Amino acid sequence: LGKRISGALRSLTTATVIDEQLLDNILKEVCAALLASDVNVRLVQSLRKNIKKIVNLEELAAGVNKRRIIQKAIFDELCRLVDPGVEPFKPTKGRPNVIMFVGLQGSGKTTTCTKLAHYYQRKGFRAALVCTDTFRAGAFDQLKQNATKAKIPYYGSYTESDPVQLALDGVERFKSDGFDVIVVDTSGRHRQETELFAEMKQISAAVQPDNVILVLDGTIGQAADAHARAFRDTVPVGSIVITKMDGHAKGGGAISAVAATGSPIVFIGTGEHIQDLDVFKAQSFVSKMLGMGDLGGLMETVQDLKLENSNLVKNLEQGVFTLRSMQQQMSMMSSLGPLSRVAGMIPGMPPELASQLSDAQGSANLKRIMCMLDSMTDAELDSDGRLFYTQPSRIYRVARGSGVRVGDVEMLLMQTKKMGEMFKTMSGMSKMQQKLGVGP
Ligand code: GDP
Ligand code: MG
Repeated sequence: LGKRISGALRSLTTATVIDEQLLDNILKEVCAALLASDVNVRLVQSLRKNIKKIVNLEELAAGVNKRRIIQKAIFDELCRLVDPGVEPFKPTKGRPNVIMFVGLQGSGKTTTCTKLAHYYQRKGFRAALVCTDTFRAGAFDQLKQNATKAKIPYYGSYTESDPVQLALDGVERFKSDGFDVIVVDTSGRHRQETELFAEMKQISAAVQPDNVILVLDGTIGQAADAHARAFRDTVPVGSIVITKMDGHAKGGGAISAVAATGSPIVFIGTGEHIQDLDVFKAQSFVSKMLGMGDLGGLMETVQDLKLENSNLVKNLEQGVFTLRSMQQQMSMMSSLGPLSRVAGMIPGMPPELASQLSDAQGSANLKRIMCMLDSMTDAELDSDGRLFYTQPSRIYRVARGSGVRVGDVEMLLMQTKKMGEMFKTMSGMSKMQQKLGVGP
């Protein structure tokens, strides 16, 4: 999919005349690529119609950048496909938030349950796991093993065979123990599908989840539409997690699931390990689909859009480069393609950081950095890092929380400071150029 769409968009960059004919050709290619990637036919048709409606070439005033308008319309509509415009569920501390997982056998529920509990644990929630899968032998052992490794309290039983009772008991236990996030894992297979759906409905009615997460295998393709509908018709699906996006999955099916449920994708599973869970970002997902590693003409657009939408610009205008800005830069980088190719492209990146990120251990290094940033509190992220030196215990806490050495945290703080200085110089320069009328 990536290659074909980038190809279509490249013709936009190289064409000398931008007219209706060119737009139609580009749209034809974009749609063909989406269809080839298992995106639902109806969705593709409506995408095409919307873009045609937004880009009215004849009415565009002379002098406007038609290329940019077309690129932006295509990019925005692709983002809209994966973003239903619904605010995803967020647990609140200090009260029990029951999150129930549903999905077919093998989709990655049990794995993702632990990842999610771990994710919230790191954010300071008290999280626990409840296993209700009494169908598959070894299901409880699997959850127990994962949970033990991640030091997450769990509930399950080798003797109780009623999943509804297990769900009730587990949730009750953790509620009365004052847990904030109670994750309920369910079974994904039964002798008959009707049994599976009946069980899901009963568990949902019994525990009254605050959020139901549908887990879908990213490689599922066209079948995602029917699956998502079946689940949506049975339980109140509120969020979607797409797993196995570390392989060759294009995620086209994911798009159908969003349309079928009207629910947002909240996380992406990118591996079998506990930290392989990424917060879903529509723009990153789309950039990846578009094969931004190709660095086609859209690259600039994506960069522009990301900058427009982030707080980075605002922060820079106020003269601060915060750790949160650093986090945005890092996560943007991880979404753009092979690190070795993009590390050097982020403006203002200190050379030693760029080389750390583009060598053989690049993605492990990036993960470590993201891990440290994830272990920081909001106040810390919104600071430029000075706060850590006035209260060094913060450095130790982050090091412990992310399993790195104190020196690693100090290094990150130093690199953030350097990057901030570079950015400040650059934004000063571009302001000056604007004043002189010579800049972009
Ligand atoms: P469940 O039957 O829905 O509970 O699925 P499991 O959690 O048991 O996962 C099924 C298989 O998929 C296991 O081998 C997991 O390690 C694997 N898996 C789950 N999520 C991911 C992912 O994001 N990436 C990869 N590569 N494998 C995954
Ligand atoms: Mg399971």
